[in-house]
Amino acid sequence: MGDIDSIASSNLVTLARRKFDTLVIGAGGGGLRAALQLSQADANVAVVSKVFPTRSHTVAAQGGMNAALANVLPDNWHWHMYDTVKGSDYLGDQDAIEYMCRAASHLVVELEHAGVPFTRLEDGRIYQRAFGGQSQNFGGEQAVRTCAAADRTGHAILHTLYQQNIRAKTHFFDEHFAVDLILDDDGYVLGALTLEIETGELLLIEAKTTLLATGGAGQLFRTNTNAHINTGDGLAMVLRAGLPIQDMEFFQFHPTGIAGKGMLITEGARGEGGYLINKDGERFMARYAPKAKDLASRDVVSRAIAVEVRDGRGCGANGDHVFLKLDHLGAETVHKRLPGICDMVTTFLGIDPAVEHIPVYPTAHYTMGGIPTDRDGRVVAPVNSGEEPVPGLYAVGECACVSVHGANRLGGNSLLDIVVFGRAAGNDINEFLTANRYHRPLNDASVEQALTRLARWDRTGDGESVSQLRDELQSTMETYCGVFRSDEVLKEGVDEVLALEKRLEGAVLQDHSKTFNTARIEALELENLMELAIATVCSALERRESRGAHSRIDFTERDDVHWLKHSLFFKEDRRLDYKPVRMKPLSVESFPPKERVY
Ligand SMILES: Cc1cc2nc3c(=O)[nH]c(=O)nc-3n(C[C@H](O)[C@H](O)[C@H](O)COP(=O)(O)OP(=O)(O)OC[C@H]3O[C@@H](n4cnc5c(N)ncnc54)[C@H](O)[C@@H]3O)c2cc1C
Repeated sequence: MGDIDSIASSNLVTLARRKFDTLVIGAGGGGLRAALQLSQADANVAVVSKVFPTRSHTVAAQGGMNAALANVLPDNWHWHMYDTVKGSDYLGDQDAIEYMCRAASHLVVELEHAGVPFTRLEDGRIYQRAFGGQSQNFGGEQAVRTCAAADRTGHAILHTLYQQNIRAKTHFFDEHFAVDLILDDDGYVLGALTLEIETGELLLIEAKTTLLATGGAGQLFRTNTNAHINTGDGLAMVLRAGLPIQDMEFFQFHPTGIAGKGMLITEGARGEGGYLINKDGERFMARYAPKAKDLASRDVVSRAIAVEVRDGRGCGANGDHVFLKLDHLGAETVHKRLPGICDMVTTFLGIDPAVEHIPVYPTAHYTMGGIPTDRDGRVVAPVNSGEEPVPGLYAVGECACVSVHGANRLGGNSLLDIVVFGRAAGNDINEFLTANRYHRPLNDASVEQALTRLARWDRTGDGESVSQLRDELQSTMETYCGVFRSDEVLKEGVDEVLALEKRLEGAVLQDHSKTFNTARIEALELENLMELAIATVCSALERRESRGAHSRIDFTERDDVHWLKHSLFFKEDRRLDYKPVRMKPLSVESFPPKERVY
């Protein structure tokens, strides 16, 4: 049990301090890929993670990672780029997308050499499967682009990156919670205040650069595929540092979560030939996406399922889900290609997916929005009419918005995103460290601010419980900011979330004698979720069009004239600003917006 009193009495004099060249907050694939690049270049790197590194959510990634290796069917990075731009509903920044798709094949091979045990084809090359939104020849036949290690690709990648970091002597602070960034008066980011979860000890980590790789915020919604820890802490830290976060109205609902529970059934299940049916046994995706059918992009499939259920064609006693059918694939394929899915479905539903259909419904999955960055992972903020890097601050992975996913991410592109931009940020930080050899002096006021925020969670006694408020916040977000949205419902959503924020002020930890530091952590996480819920509903209310995952029943069309732009949400005054999409790729012609059909 942690000593909560020691936190309250901590002050600047007694505060333990450590200095590193660079601080990486988050030990998922994004953080570890960046850390590896740095440690291998002999930088002194600290990685802080609130869970043991290999428990980060990357470990749960199932289906695979996209790269145009062309091991199964013809392919090239330019087609991959086209699919990603189209998948993003033209909101993705095309320079970043080109950069990512061109780097993909190289990075898969690099991971293989680092030890990732990819599944093999008969001829020994890396196995690839079909995923949603993939095409050959700019919108032609289905492509087969997702490199997989069975259905445990994230597990294989994360463990490999962790082991390589151990070898490279990266310094790990496991089960340490980052509370807030530390900035000086000139806006330089100089590290972060952290809390060791087991002991309650505080540690101030000073660094010449700080990289946020804290993952997504799936815990904003009640039914989600994310780990309990995915509370968007990095995004909230950025908001509290006075910087904006981008495109928060775009949250991906994955079509196939286990109905009522949320656990993910990988798109790879449809990639292997599985498909969705309604209560009449009809393969309904043929009506919504005649060509791609069940492998249309995720926003399209999620909306189709919601419409089937809404129009009374749902399955089960309550007609509240559809079925994913795999039995026609044969037990051998299902068990060999999708062993993790078989385990999960047997454990949670008590059925064998090779024999019985899996009940599924869309579930909150991926945070497309995030901390705005450039291609080198540098966090950028508006300055005059343009934008400039925030000195010393980087972000990569799901917490960042570079933006390669725009309004809708393609399956298999996130594992790619984290390694591509993890490496790019590592390289840029190395250059920064060469040019900036010394630590800047620390600003005590900023440390005090973080300490004050912590001290607020010493309060026990009468008041609402944190867990109750978290449940209510998640239900509120699901009800008012789900797959389909409208002005009326979103306005109510804003009011509801603001009311919850007010109630959070009076919330308390449980009885002091029984309080563990984990209770304090949950309170800090809820504060973070609250900031992000407000950012999400406000951004969604303002965007009066339908694009990608943001689907408005009162503005059903995409409106490129007024809305082909990124939103920026600021904590101060709950203000929204907008900035243009980077339409110009690095070396090829841009893909201008056109109607998106699958
Ligand atoms: C079930 C599931 C399946 C998926 N399948 C695929 C797939 O097949 N293909 C694909 O491309 N994508 C997939 N994704 C998406 C992809 O896995 C994630 O987007 C990606 O792995 C995120 O990596 P990350 O490094 O950004 O963050 P994460 O892996 O989420 O790691 C975040 C890290 O930040 C740390 N952290 C957070 N807050 C704090 C704090 N306050 N203090 C200290 N540490 C903190 C955590 O401890 C953790 O180490 C899937 C996602 C889910 C949920």
